[in-house]
Amino acid sequence: MALTEFDLIHQFFSDMGASDRVLLGVGDDAAIIDTTDGWVLHVSTDTLIEGVHFLPGCAASDIAYRAVMTAASDLAAMGAAPRAMVLAISLPEPDTTWLAGFSTGLRAASAEARLPLVGGDTTHGPLVITVTVMGETPAGQCLRRSGAAPGDRLCVSGTLGDAAAGLSLLRGELVAADPADAAFLTARFLRPTAQITLGESLRARATAAIDIARATAAIDISDGLIGDSTHLATRSGVALQIDHRQLPRSTAFCSVVEPSQQLNYLLSGGDDYELLFTLPQSAALPEGCTEIGRVMAGSGVSCDGMPTVKGYDHFGHG
Ligand code: ADP
Ligand code: MG
Repeated sequence: MALTEFDLIHQFFSDMGASDRVLLGVGDDAAIIDTTDGWVLHVSTDTLIEGVHFLPGCAASDIAYRAVMTAASDLAAMGAAPRAMVLAISLPEPDTTWLAGFSTGLRAASAEARLPLVGGDTTHGPLVITVTVMGETPAGQCLRRSGAAPGDRLCVSGTLGDAAAGLSLLRGELVAADPADAAFLTARFLRPTAQITLGESLRARATAAIDIARATAAIDISDGLIGDSTHLATRSGVALQIDHRQLPRSTAFCSVVEPSQQLNYLLSGGDDYELLFTLPQSAALPEGCTEIGRVMAGSGVSCDGMPTVKGYDHFGHG
């Protein structure tokens, strides 16, 4: 018997996460989310289209996981506390095996990003997935792309270039001698992690027990370091100087990517969903983060003193 729209929603999209802020989730005409005085709502949405944003035949659980994390990464960049998400999905003929996989990936990402699924829309059509996320920050406390000041330290979370190397492995453009390296790098592409907790701590540091200054600006790295640091530089009205020797790389990345190709991946490879942020000079570096350069007066982004406007477009980003 064919699955009705309501069976499908009940079976695959309900009871996914809970929070004391969600007063009403899936099942009514709208979800209800509690908002507390003094906090402001952040809303961001992202769409993934089969063949455009993911390869046809990609595992359903990975598609769902990635859809949530790429949307959640925008909340991380604002320093927002995650509150809830809604999912609009257009599906070809419902395939319960595919849907079960999708639902599993969705549930895992919902738990990891602390985003209960509170509603959505299910339609018939080509495979298109839109995830809308909601988060909150205390009024006036969010992180923005603007705010970096000359003298600040330029920092990044995690390691760079892994997701781009993972995509190259999936496309057969790179080969890994060690299957563990291949698994690590492809997972960095297929299952990115939004840096939600780091974002919240960069926003809230001044109010934490230790009085560490908060970040002055932040952006998530979705299009590659150069592209996204250029957005931060422009919005802040500053110049950014990157020192390539300081760019953090994983062991797997170093074993798989030729030294002569590494800079390309580090500077232009997208999809890492790490955070790029600026800290006042006196502020301590959070754990797992690396200082990669400095904020200066001026404009644009340079690497080792060379302007980076063009010339690192290996992946066709930007
Ligand atoms: P309405 O007709 O009132 O817009 P729908 O019939 O589209 O409601 O959906 C019924 C309920 O299921 C709503 O609460 C809606 O938010 C939820 N819903 C529909 N599709 C999804 C989905 N893909 N994920 C989560 N919730 C969904
Ligand atoms: Mg209705």
